[in-house]
Amino acid sequence: MNEFAHLVSRPSRQIDYQTFDNRLLAYVLRYEPSFLTCMSCGGCTATCSAGKLTDFNIRRIGLMLRRGQTDKLAAEIDKCMFCGKCSLVCPRDVNIRNVVLLIKKESTRLHAENQKV
Ligand code: SF4
Ligand code: SF4
Repeated sequence: MNEFAHLVSRPSRQIDYQTFDNRLLAYVLRYEPSFLTCMSCGGCTATCSAGKLTDFNIRRIGLMLRRGQTDKLAAEIDKCMFCGKCSLVCPRDVNIRNVVLLIKKESTRLHAENQKV
């Protein structure tokens, strides 16, 4: 009998709420609550200056933030040029440039804090 199912070899994208580190997300939402209204439409990604020159993807940054992937975020965020075009085109008025700025600021502090433990 033929097998119709595909084998998925990618790692699971399931969020484990027992180990989920939400400190960075909580920090961003405290200082930039507009991020709550983001609907992941990708408008910011389409206009992003850094995305045109590198593999930077601002919408992916939002997803990583919601999933608590703090270490991956710290490595990606340096590609942002802080031009602000993403905030200008956002249909939900999310100040996504400020979200990037807050991630950069707090992820450095969290990284230093994690090193102490
Ligand atoms: S354009 Fe605004 S609503 Fe759309 S993904 Fe970017 S931040 Fe979210
Ligand atoms: S501020 Fe950063 S994320 Fe926004 S459009 Fe410019 S380079 Fe892209």
